[in-house]
Amino acid sequence: MMELSMYIDGEWRKGSENQKREIINPANGEVIAEAAEGTVSDTRVAIQAARKAFDQGNWPSLSAEERAGYLLRVADKIDERHDELTALETMDNGKPLREAGYDVSDAAACFRYYAGLILAPHGETYNVPDNMQAMVIREPIGVCGLIVPWNYPLLMSVWKIAPALAAGNTIVYKPSELTPVTPTKLFEIFEEIGLPRGVANMVMGAGETVGNEIAVSDDVDMISFTGGTDTGRHIMKAASGNMKKISLELGGKSPNIIFADTDLENAVDFALFGIYAGAGQICSAGSRILVEKSIKDAFIARFVERANKIKVGPGDDPQTEMGPLVSQEQLDKVLRYIEIGKAEGAEIACGGYRLTDRDYGKGFFVAPTAFIQTKPDMRIVQEEIFGPVAVFQTFKDEAEAVKLANDTKYGLAGGVFTRDAAKAMRVIKKVRAGITWVNTYHGTYNEAPWHGYKQSGIGSSLGTYGLDEFLETKQINFNLNVEPIGWFSD
Ligand code: NDP
Repeated sequence: MMELSMYIDGEWRKGSENQKREIINPANGEVIAEAAEGTVSDTRVAIQAARKAFDQGNWPSLSAEERAGYLLRVADKIDERHDELTALETMDNGKPLREAGYDVSDAAACFRYYAGLILAPHGETYNVPDNMQAMVIREPIGVCGLIVPWNYPLLMSVWKIAPALAAGNTIVYKPSELTPVTPTKLFEIFEEIGLPRGVANMVMGAGETVGNEIAVSDDVDMISFTGGTDTGRHIMKAASGNMKKISLELGGKSPNIIFADTDLENAVDFALFGIYAGAGQICSAGSRILVEKSIKDAFIARFVERANKIKVGPGDDPQTEMGPLVSQEQLDKVLRYIEIGKAEGAEIACGGYRLTDRDYGKGFFVAPTAFIQTKPDMRIVQEEIFGPVAVFQTFKDEAEAVKLANDTKYGLAGGVFTRDAAKAMRVIKKVRAGITWVNTYHGTYNEAPWHGYKQSGIGSSLGTYGLDEFLETKQINFNLNVEPIGWFSD
């Protein structure tokens, strides 16, 4: 069994109260690790280490090229340990090996992307009166608190850590209490490549203690959070004490809009991928499938036929196409929503139950599930379930499709399937969401910003926008004609 410690001020540490948390393999309920449980006092020590490392200036004042060098070495080490990290991600989160493998490769690519981006020009100059030169430079913000969820334990962390460090900040990072294994390996890599002491600190433990302390601390200058919308709301309030900069990547209930003129096989394929990849535990999951009425029967029949064939099983079985949910708590939540949907009057088209045959009862497996006969105001249509549960809705025309698509508090992602390019563009422009796809779903790139509208978030990850989140903007006005202004008489 693995023993996982926190990484604070360049040292591996147990929690100050010596408490531990068992980390579970969601495929079989076995304990795979014991993780140090951080306290408020551990968090404060980590914040002070990051504060000192920033204020002493060694990391922020390194040249961009030197910082990029560190990031590139991290990327190389991730690649070297690709198979080990993939296996550990599967063991801790439950996702199939092929998904975990993509995450690990993406994590390395993300470090490389920000290593390159920090070397690009970042300033601007302005044409102001002749005797002045005005310019803008970008500077790191300071100590950044980074809090992430369990669905992409490594990759979601890297989406924050890579740009934060590239920009010259120091960090206090908290993984999800459920999934600290690959984050710990990442910090081992930081140690191995000689990242200066105090620059990157990891405190493990509960959101209400460790996460909350990061959010309220006056010594933290910025907070970047990914997680549920309710937690995001709490973080906004907690961060208001010292007016921290905030960046929030929150939940979603994203529409996947299928028009009658689409290539049906392609649309079914991506609709399945949209909701059942990651067992539906993906913030951008296409969890509401909106189908034009004239093809609803054919579409749903084909969807259900294929959903019933998805191979659900332990992530480390190469045959597995969909793994378990991450925890008992998440399993309970998803099963509860299935009961809510039935009680609301929706009908199950496929799935709707926990898998308990063979050894599956020891893990947290749910069959790929879809509801039909839904109504827009049902809770299963409005609320994020974060599991392998799709809800079907139907529409008669473009206007109704757009109305239904926008009819939740969320605005993270959305897809449109049609052979009519102009219609695709018309509709996608009206969908109030930051991440959209036409005739495809889920593809995302380090180069493009990840951003939610409405209650799906504030600010962006990835791309140049993701770096900007971790930079301040300074205006410098330079007097080229040094003589008194004479505004007041002498
Ligand atoms: P949570 O909001 O419960 O937790 C996210 C992180 O916040 C965890 O590290 C958690 O700690 C911590 N946390 C919990 N309470 C507090 C608090 N009071 N103060 C500070 N930190 C706190 O989300 P889940 O982990 O359940 O993840 C699922 C959610 O994440 C979904 O809603 C999903 O949509 C969203 N998500 C959004 C993404 C996006 O890019 N928009 C991407 C991925 C997920 P603890 O370890 O104790 O749980």
